Amino acid sequence: MINFSFYGGIHPEDSKTGTSAKKILNLRPPKKAIIPLQQHTGAVCEPLVKIGDIVKVGQKIGDTKTFVSAPVHATISGKVIDISPMLHPLETKALSIIIESDEADTWAIEETKRDWKTLKQEEIKHIVREAGVVGLGGAAFPTHVKLSPPENKKIDTYILNGAECEPFLTADHRLMLEYAEQVVIGLKILMKATGVKKGIIGIERNKPDAFRKIADEINKEPDLNIDVISLKVKYPQGAEKQLIKALLKREVPSGELPMDVGAIVSNVGTSFAVYESVVERKPLVERIVTVTGKGVRNPQNLRVRIGTPFSNLIEACGGAKEEAGKIIMGGPMMGIAQYTADVPVIKGTSGILVQTKNEVCDKPEECCIRCGNCASVCPMKILPNVITNSIKNERFEDAKEYGLLDCMECGACAYVCPANIPIVKYIKYGKTRLKK
Ligand code: SF4
Ligand code: SF4
Repeated sequence: MINFSFYGGIHPEDSKTGTSAKKILNLRPPKKAIIPLQQHTGAVCEPLVKIGDIVKVGQKIGDTKTFVSAPVHATISGKVIDISPMLHPLETKALSIIIESDEADTWAIEETKRDWKTLKQEEIKHIVREAGVVGLGGAAFPTHVKLSPPENKKIDTYILNGAECEPFLTADHRLMLEYAEQVVIGLKILMKATGVKKGIIGIERNKPDAFRKIADEINKEPDLNIDVISLKVKYPQGAEKQLIKALLKREVPSGELPMDVGAIVSNVGTSFAVYESVVERKPLVERIVTVTGKGVRNPQNLRVRIGTPFSNLIEACGGAKEEAGKIIMGGPMMGIAQYTADVPVIKGTSGILVQTKNEVCDKPEECCIRCGNCASVCPMKILPNVITNSIKNERFEDAKEYGLLDCMECGACAYVCPANIPIVKYIKYGKTRLKK
């Protein structure tokens, strides 16, 4: 068997059995939705509504003329009761539109399906942009920007990332199982929008049922130029550059992007969102979130409206156990720790992990023993220990020379460090200082 994989990486316990067999459940829309105007990479949106306005689900309520950005939409119907800075899972606070529900769940979209095959490339990009679709794997990069590479970049392959290599998370797994047809149509739409003739869906080997579902879907059309490929189970297999290396055997050079080696990568969740926006005319108002961890009573995969507080999701899963110690947005490797459950679900919320107090690492940081573990697992082939040392000594330009900006903050180095050095924390600090 060909080994579809990449350099370095680690093998943490995947801890997915708590939710991998659980069907996606719809969570009741919240009584109050908090919609941040910044949920994506790029410019923050301006509010398009004012306090007192009545809005419907899917109505655009925030936008900007800046190209690298994505509009936001009302995710419940009701009344705008405030526009003010609110707690945000990635920032301390962010300007947000707060909507109080009228409990009617009235939508602002047409119900007739659209025939995507009749659409021109620019029409698809426009629809995707207007629907506020962003990458749902975590980075929330606006999808219409990804679909618009410069003319001189020749793209030959569109890759869908179904690896879901983060431990605990199963939202993409369930999506591929329950919505395989829509995911594949989404990829066909993405290929049409970019004029790319070849598609590949990469799925880690620990999801054989999802692999079969997607393969069955593809096999319905013998002329479809889409392959589904089984990938080695290894973290971070789902990172863009590692996925390209594994599937196409192409290296994305330092400082360059997937399009520089002829590829575009999107998450399977993004493909589904593209399908919904183009065919169902539905803007990105909800997403699937895995609520999991030993600190929550009944882990689930939930379809939730953007803007729903984390606390609602945890309650819907039976609540947090007494021994719960830490809430993380995302998985344990790349997730962001939260200091409250009052933050809203945003477009990039793939999971909510509730850890117990015992699981929270509080071991003291020790001195580097130069074991080299971190360098041997770093998929970017940089030297995390040397970079960390430069940052500790405030030598940020040196850290840059050693590859600081190539770091994708996957956390593999910190995972294997016997000295408990929070390498990613230092790296994030180094990047911030370098920007300044
Ligand atoms: S240095 Fe960055 S890319 Fe390399 S293992 Fe550590 S976090 Fe991952
Ligand atoms: S793994 Fe930790 S102790 Fe070993 S070289 Fe890297 S930073 Fe130092």
